[in-house]
Amino acid sequence: MADLPKDLLTEIKSLEEAFTVDTTKLKQITKHFVSELEKGLSVEGGSIPMNPTWVMDFPDGYETGTYLALDMGGTNLRVCEITLTNNKSEFDIVQSKYRMPEELKTGHSEELWEYIADCLQQFVETQRSDKAPVQGKIPLGFTFSYPATQNYIDEGILQRWTKGFDIDGVEGENVVPMLDAALAQRGVPIVVSALINDTTGTLIASAYTDPKMKIGCIFGTGCNAAYMEHCGSIPKLAHMNLPADMPMAINCEWGAFDNEHKILPRTKYDIIIDKESPRPGQQAFEKCIAGLYLGEIFRLIMVDLHDNKDVHIFEGQDIKHLRKPYTLDASFLSAIEDDPFENLQETADLFKDKLQLTCTQPELELIRRAAELIGTRAARLSACGVAAICTKKNLQPCHVGADGSVFNKYPHFKARGAQALREILDWPAKSNASEEDPVEILAAEDGSGVGAALIAALTLKRFSKGDV
Ligand code: BGC
Ligand code: MG
Repeated sequence: MADLPKDLLTEIKSLEEAFTVDTTKLKQITKHFVSELEKGLSVEGGSIPMNPTWVMDFPDGYETGTYLALDMGGTNLRVCEITLTNNKSEFDIVQSKYRMPEELKTGHSEELWEYIADCLQQFVETQRSDKAPVQGKIPLGFTFSYPATQNYIDEGILQRWTKGFDIDGVEGENVVPMLDAALAQRGVPIVVSALINDTTGTLIASAYTDPKMKIGCIFGTGCNAAYMEHCGSIPKLAHMNLPADMPMAINCEWGAFDNEHKILPRTKYDIIIDKESPRPGQQAFEKCIAGLYLGEIFRLIMVDLHDNKDVHIFEGQDIKHLRKPYTLDASFLSAIEDDPFENLQETADLFKDKLQLTCTQPELELIRRAAELIGTRAARLSACGVAAICTKKNLQPCHVGADGSVFNKYPHFKARGAQALREILDWPAKSNASEEDPVEILAAEDGSGVGAALIAALTLKRFSKGDV
């Protein structure tokens, strides 16, 4: 990098300054995070919703039965039939994936529920393992991965859309009757028996096969975590007089951390992302970390360095493709960070194919560095959330189950996150490479499918015992 022209080096330096989060800052963020988690559980509340989910038990591995699960994620719609077998912690799964049409995300409420009901109908008619006619209604675990208020497990009042969704007539409403109505209208014999967040599903599915799992995280299109609290530590539920030692899974909705912009380092690119999003002022933490935004942060940097700086990257070229918002997703950044060639040949090809831009060698160096900075910041900030829950609940040692495209596919995300955790929680260096860290973030079981089925099973078990 030493041979780069001086003006490019200056730009790289200022990007490094803007995007680097050092150990001291990580610790400050984590400390503030712990107090915001507390605040979210209080009667007054804070910006992190800390939603009680009415998932009140870990599975013991002996759950059985066949359940349907619907996963309405940010990108896909998935319908699964899960059979929890008689063998401890074993399950079978049959599933179909459907694309979530882009126009539905900003369309009207009825279209959304009709589309989902159609997918469920198709699945029930063609994919069910049991070919006998359905007796009564099949219980469905509905993984609805947006912040929702729940007074019961089969209720979900949407607090606000996230992940770029903006569908009229749903915020402030209970989504369960909406889906139930669309199903009833088609005569589909399904009833929503539990509404589940993907993080809660991840927590439960992970604990099913690994009892050391204490936190479920998603680092995907959006980002968030869930963990098990005790009712006695949830002041906002005190009026219900639940036993103090009764467990209650909390869906943190930590994407909303620092909506008031007190602590996170914000670059001018983060400010633009927020301003141009359908919900400005919301999901401040998520907008720095989640897959939906990583490519957009990168794109904004590139446009800025073309238009506003002395360097004028891509000089004399038409950057019209680069000007289109959200044209680059996280997989574009992944590919840049994965480029194995010294001369960054794959990155050059990518820019040519996708954006019709020819890059000079110094520009390629800058591109690679920008991607690294964005990816590293995302991983390090993510670790603050995990460290905060571990600190609040005194969870060390434990395992954390993580899922989502960024966690599973983004190069170095895991290692960078683990390094940041080490810095925040002050662990001594490992004596050998195979030794575990006190907190290990590991790939989770399928929370939105298997987790949803387990929660449906735990719910039925609880109701059959006559509990809350
Ligand atoms: C949603 C959460 C969800 C997360 C990961 C966020 O945008 O608000 O409910 O868990 O994305 O899917
Ligand atoms: Mg998902």
